[in-house]
Amino acid sequence: MFSDGRSRRVIFLAHCLLNQNAISDGTAEVPAAHRELLRVVLNAQVGIVQLPCPELCCLGLDRGDPQGGERPVVVENTRIRRAMGQPEAAARLRELTDQMVRQVGEYRKHGFAVLGIVGVDRSPCCGVNTTSDQDREVPGQGVFIAALRTALEAAGLDVPVIGVKPSAPNALDRVRALLDA
Ligand code: SF4
Repeated sequence: MFSDGRSRRVIFLAHCLLNQNAISDGTAEVPAAHRELLRVVLNAQVGIVQLPCPELCCLGLDRGDPQGGERPVVVENTRIRRAMGQPEAAARLRELTDQMVRQVGEYRKHGFAVLGIVGVDRSPCCGVNTTSDQDREVPGQGVFIAALRTALEAAGLDVPVIGVKPSAPNALDRVRALLDA
């Protein structure tokens, strides 16, 4: 089964690495996607699974405040972090998390290599090494990554998780290391 042309190797990438149109107002760095990062993954013959953008799915494209883009990023990120904890958003976040765990589980069940999950540091949702809280960038995880890791662990799924700042000089090397592991 599945002994066709596919590589049987996949990686999960934060939504906005492939689609900058989803990112919060004022924070897009490129018009469409972080092409070099995607090229590294595709050159390794690894399939890309795009994670959902939790902020878009739970709060909307404007994150529930059309003035959000006028605030300093970490201040707006802190507001977004709080908004993600409200009951309706939190319930949606659980649904997203469950869907991702199901996908990882399916790939693993069929013997595919799930090489890892790549989040975006400083994000209140997708940060891995750093996130935003108390109007600052602080060490710690975003609420989506934290929930996803907990749910994966509960399901017995061990998947490496890294965070990058996609325009940082070390971002491509960090993704390459994940692909080579
Ligand atoms: S970091 Fe996460 S929440 Fe923020 S725009 Fe990207 S995918 Fe959406």
